[in-house]
Amino acid sequence: MVWEQRWHPLREEWVIVATHRQDRPWTGEMASSSSEEIADFDPDCYLCPGNTRIGGNQNPNYEQVFVFDNDLPCVAQDVNRELEPAPGDVNRNKPAYGVARVVCYSPKHNLSLAELDDHEVETLVRTWRQQYIELGNYPKISHVLIFENRGKVVGVSNPHPHCQIYATNFVFKHIATEARVSQNYLAETGRILFRDIIAAEKEDAKRVICENDSAIAFIPYFARYAYEIFVAPKTTCASLANLSDDELRDFAKILKQVLVKFDNLWQMPFPYVMPLHQAPTDGGDYSGFHFHIEFHPPLRKPNLLKYLAGPEIGGGNFLSDTSPDEKAAELRSLPDVHYKSTA
Ligand SMILES: [Zn+2]
Repeated sequence: MVWEQRWHPLREEWVIVATHRQDRPWTGEMASSSSEEIADFDPDCYLCPGNTRIGGNQNPNYEQVFVFDNDLPCVAQDVNRELEPAPGDVNRNKPAYGVARVVCYSPKHNLSLAELDDHEVETLVRTWRQQYIELGNYPKISHVLIFENRGKVVGVSNPHPHCQIYATNFVFKHIATEARVSQNYLAETGRILFRDIIAAEKEDAKRVICENDSAIAFIPYFARYAYEIFVAPKTTCASLANLSDDELRDFAKILKQVLVKFDNLWQMPFPYVMPLHQAPTDGGDYSGFHFHIEFHPPLRKPNLLKYLAGPEIGGGNFLSDTSPDEKAAELRSLPDVHYKSTA
């Protein structure tokens, strides 16, 4: 038994690759046959235009992207809340607060991000940029985390296409680690860590999924999930705020191409967790930070979840069962037209 360890430079951890653990390779089963038709409007959906939300607010009859403050936020906006001091000397606490928002991608209940056209995806990316700038400028907001959870296996049962924003007085750990290692790398080498990752992927070329003039998508050498993909501009920007319009357009195109390939893989809505990695907004030096989007898809096959268990939860290192090279080849071979639009 030979296990390989691959260094994940952005997280500062080893990923254990054990491809021989993989059982029978995927034999081509598709999940689409059983998928039921969903209407483009659902009177019970709190995200559909004109419907009343949980907090009693009514959605406008929006026609494109629609942003609203989350009625059930995970972070409170009440800055003046007094905390009970933590008991004892070892335990510590501090107040967590911020703004939580929801971004609806489309008024259509049954459309996914992958099914939006190029222009709509671009509009969404512009909305992300604007939200990052607006919320990042709030006093005491240290970071703006934008993410989409898609699919029942990551806890989302409402198919209405949307993502969430947590703008908080703290920086989430993976972003904090990435910011720190990127600055250290810049100080030690004079280079941008993520640019070196892109250069290595381009040189090896086996894991590149698609690219255009200024954007690229690849499964990193150190991928933790079978279909983990990074989508990035080729030039270094700490956030969407610094991308030029041309770069933003190129980026949106590559993002859309990846999303279509995901859905085409098993001809089903492909579940994932999709965080935007943007620099903190706390005024620090993030000149080494390279904006990108990461996809963390939990499925290895249409009905096979990558369970996080002993190694991951118990030990803290990911055990990967699949070869990133093979998975990238699989995705690359898929059409760039969404399977539903050809049906
Ligand atoms: Zn809806």
